[in-house]
Amino acid sequence: MADNFVDGIMETVESRNGGDVEFHQAVREVVESIAPVIEKHPEFAAAGIVERVVEPERQIIFRVPWMDDNGQVQVNRGFRVEFNSAIGPYKGGLRFHPSVNVGIIKFLGFEQTFKNALTGTPIGGGKGGCDFNPKGKSDNEVMRFCQSFMSELFRHIGPDTDVPAGDIGVGAREIGYLFGQYKKLTNTFVGILTGKGLGWGGSLVRTEATGYGLVYFVSRMLEARGKDWKGQKVVISGSGNVAIYATQKVQQLGGTVIALSDSNGYIVDNDGIKLDTVRQIKEVRRGRIKEYLEEHPSAEFHEGWEGIWSVPCDVALPSATQNELDGNAAGTLVANGCIAVAEGANMPSTPEAVKVFLDGGVSFGPAKAANAGGVATSALEMSQNSMRMSWSFEEVDKRLKGIMDSIYTQCVEAADAYGCNGNLVAGANIAGFLKVARAMMAQGVV
Ligand code: GLU
Repeated sequence: MADNFVDGIMETVESRNGGDVEFHQAVREVVESIAPVIEKHPEFAAAGIVERVVEPERQIIFRVPWMDDNGQVQVNRGFRVEFNSAIGPYKGGLRFHPSVNVGIIKFLGFEQTFKNALTGTPIGGGKGGCDFNPKGKSDNEVMRFCQSFMSELFRHIGPDTDVPAGDIGVGAREIGYLFGQYKKLTNTFVGILTGKGLGWGGSLVRTEATGYGLVYFVSRMLEARGKDWKGQKVVISGSGNVAIYATQKVQQLGGTVIALSDSNGYIVDNDGIKLDTVRQIKEVRRGRIKEYLEEHPSAEFHEGWEGIWSVPCDVALPSATQNELDGNAAGTLVANGCIAVAEGANMPSTPEAVKVFLDGGVSFGPAKAANAGGVATSALEMSQNSMRMSWSFEEVDKRLKGIMDSIYTQCVEAADAYGCNGNLVAGANIAGFLKVARAMMAQGVV
C-alpha cells in the first residue's frame, strides 16, 4: 500500500509541476512519512486530504518593474504562493534571491504549512519572493524595488488573510520599505508583515528567534543523549540572521562555534568565532565573510562554501540554503564524529544526507521542526499587534522556548506512535500533517 500511495501522489505532483524539483523533493519526503497515517486513517484518503494538501490553494505570479540608479528600467518576477489556510491566515516569508522561481516558492510554502502547524499557533502556510538580487544594490534601488513589489502584492494580503515576513534577502530594511508602501496604498496601519521594527509594531526576540529556537531544539536533542552544549564544537553554515543568532545562543550556553560561511567560502576560527566582527561585516557593512581575517588574522578562510562540512565538529547546523549538504558531506560529518545535526535553513540536507545521518545514529532535527522558532515568534508578533500590546524580551523568549519544547515532544511522540522511534523527520511530518488534515476534514471539501 505504502509504495502505491507514494507513487500515485508523486505521479500527479510531478506531472502537474514540471521541473519544480525542489517541490517534488519536499513533497516526496512528507508523503513517504505519512503513508502509515493514511493506512490507519482511511477517512483521510476518502476525503482526498493528501491530493488537496499537495496543491496550493492559490498561486500569484506578477511583474515587478523598477528603475535602477542609472535610470534603466529593470523587470523582475514576483511570487506569492498561498498554500494552505486550514489552520489560519497564510503565513510565511518572502525570499529575494536570483535563484527564486515558482518551484522554490512552492517547496517553501509546502514546508511552511507543516512547520506552522507544529508551532501550535493559528497560522496557515504560504511563501513568496522574487528573483531580485539585493546584493550590490543601493538602498534607493532596494526601496524602489520593494515599493513596486508591494504595489501588486498588497491586493492579495491582509492581517487576517496572508501575512508575509522575511527570508533570504529580506531583512529589517526590506520589511520597512514593504510596510511603508502597504500603509500608503491602503491607508491602514495593521500587522500586515512580521519582522517589523521595534518602534512600529515589531516584537522583541523576532530577530533572534530562528537561531535561538534552533539552539533550544538542539538542547533537547543533546539532552536525549545525556549531553548539553558545554564544550561542544559547532559548525554553522551561513552568516545571515539564522546563523548569527544561533551562534550567539550556542556561545551563551557554553558551546564553541568554530566555522561560518557565505556564498564565497567559509572561515574557521578554532578559538571561537568573534560574533561582534561577523555582525559588523554582515549586519552593518553588508560585506563578505572573508573580511573576518582583517581583524583576526589567525583564522582561516577557504574558498567555496561546500568545504565547511569537512571541519570536524560535534554539532552541525546547516543554516545557509536548500540542498547545501549532500550525502558525501554527511558521510564526512559522521566519520568525523558529529553527534547532532539540525537544520536552520529550509531543506538544507539532501535526501541522501538525511539517510546517512539517520543510518549513522546522528540525532537529526529537520527544518520544519528545528527552525520553526522564527515563524512561531512571527505568530507572537501577530498576537501582540492584535492586542495592541508589546511583551517584554523575557516574556517572548519564554514563549519561544515553550514552543520549541512542545515541537520536540510532538515529533518524538508522533514518531513513537507510528513505529519510527527516534526519527524526528517522520515525527515532524506526521505531527504537522495530522493537525492540518484534521482541520481540513472539519472544514469540508474546499
Ligand atoms: N522565513 C521564515 C521561515 O522559513 C519565517 C517566516 C515567517 O516568520 O513568517 O519560517
